Amino acid sequence: MQDATDSVGLTGRSVGNSYRLVKPIGQGATGTVWQGVDSATEEPVAVKLLHESLLRQPRLVTRFVQERTILLMLRHRNVVRVRDLFSVGETLGLVMDLVAGGSLRDHLERVRTMPPAEAARLAAQVADALAEAHELGIIHRDLKPDNILLLEQDGRLETRLTDFGIARILNVPSMTTPNAVVGTPHYMAPEAFHGVTPSPATDVYALGVLLYELVSGQPPYLSDSVPELMRLHAEGRPHRRRGIPDELWRVIRSCLHAKPRQRPAATALVRDLRLLARKLSGVPALPPPPPPRLPPADPDDMAVDPPELRQGIRMPGRHAVPPPRNAVPGHRWLRSSAVLAGVLLATATVVWRGGGEPRVQPQVAALPSGSQHVATRVASPSPSPARTRKKAASKRTSRPHRTRSPEPEVYGPWECAQGFVIDLSTRSPLVPRPCHSVGRDVRFQASLTAPAGGTADIEVTLRDVDTGRTVAGPTTCAGLTFTRGAMTKECGPAGAAPRRGRSYTVVMAYRYERDGQSSSNTARGRIFTW
Ligand code: ADP
Ligand code: MG
Repeated sequence: MQDATDSVGLTGRSVGNSYRLVKPIGQGATGTVWQGVDSATEEPVAVKLLHESLLRQPRLVTRFVQERTILLMLRHRNVVRVRDLFSVGETLGLVMDLVAGGSLRDHLERVRTMPPAEAARLAAQVADALAEAHELGIIHRDLKPDNILLLEQDGRLETRLTDFGIARILNVPSMTTPNAVVGTPHYMAPEAFHGVTPSPATDVYALGVLLYELVSGQPPYLSDSVPELMRLHAEGRPHRRRGIPDELWRVIRSCLHAKPRQRPAATALVRDLRLLARKLSGVPALPPPPPPRLPPADPDDMAVDPPELRQGIRMPGRHAVPPPRNAVPGHRWLRSSAVLAGVLLATATVVWRGGGEPRVQPQVAALPSGSQHVATRVASPSPSPARTRKKAASKRTSRPHRTRSPEPEVYGPWECAQGFVIDLSTRSPLVPRPCHSVGRDVRFQASLTAPAGGTADIEVTLRDVDTGRTVAGPTTCAGLTFTRGAMTKECGPAGAAPRRGRSYTVVMAYRYERDGQSSSNTARGRIFTW
């Protein structure tokens, strides 16, 4: 996403009270990170300038500035210190200590697995930072290797936890501004899938996932389906790879306990992990994990997850829920896919664009405000090809002589862009998924997965990317109700024959409601040419 905050033209500019921008050093989902200098002291700093698209929500900005005391309050040697927050003109910036060694994600990508003692030592530092924060009533909410920066001190790695408590700032129920952030389900505690208010135990769970990942090379649960991932987290039976020492495994298991109350407190973890770091010294790292095998399609999911869609998302190199980027060589999981970022100012629109590249790449952008409303025209969705086939299949079972009706048209696989969004107004994880398939004409549809229940209205349109015009639709589905047994609802498919030779995208606007809170968001599908 290009905007003025990442333009090299800012080099040398002064921002805030006394910060000079030196050069861009990182591109996050929410902003561009610059290396800078505090002109008052000549100390190096990191300055994150928020993307302009995030600044169009005045309430968020106000809230952000109001809450900065919380961030400034947190001082710990393993936390990236926030030095200042400033808003000048159009820009909102976060000034932090400069941490030179990249992220733990980058490091893990290089080393693949870590010796158990080293993993325990680093995890103890993270636990220590968490313990301090929990004491102050601050919950991180987005603990993962991407949010742990590294530096080298006396030949050893040291961790600095970043993006602390940012989600809390944004998670203000009174805020009516539509807002959502893209999260990652791999580090999410079972209760978080149900929209339970995060607690210190939620952070401890994420630390358990992190520790597992450091020693095994990948997080405990991998799946390309969010309902499946949710089930795995809830069941809480992580696979123990050979070579993980007993005592370390016990700590991991305790953090990954499905019941929050059964998980240890961060303070207790610090003690245990430090002890393990000493005891396990000399134990070698596990070999890198084999590439994950995708689980076979679960027939239970079929009703909500058409086989065509699965086909679409299971093309080689494409993952609906992208695995951590070190899971398979070549399958890089973008840091920004885990967008809960430096300064997580959420936006009304979450755009996922797959494109031809071998990874799913989320982006955050804004669409014209007119795209947000849900049309009042209510169309009953025509049965998706999947449902038609399923029906045909079940009829076949009861009436064996009935022949299956052939597909009238030949279409390519459904191409879907899937985002994992944590809706901040309702505190609910949501998976919007706009899809298209091309053949004699263009078919488009969308689905929404809401594990926490609730209801939604969905509107799906086909847009010309260059003109922004709606060329087909809307298909509108109102009053969709999500339950544990049916956590995914589809809207569509619909067909269209727009002008040839142009680029199109499926846009789904949805309004989601749960426990009296509601929010509206838009997700955009992959761009394709027809
Ligand atoms: P986001 O969370 O918005 O995706 P990040 O906070 O991860 O963005 O920042 C993007 C990149 O900028 C990081 O991967 C890192 O390389 C760099 N970066 C972020 N914060 C700092 C910092 N305090 N010091 C040095 N580099 C940083
Ligand atoms: Mg981040």
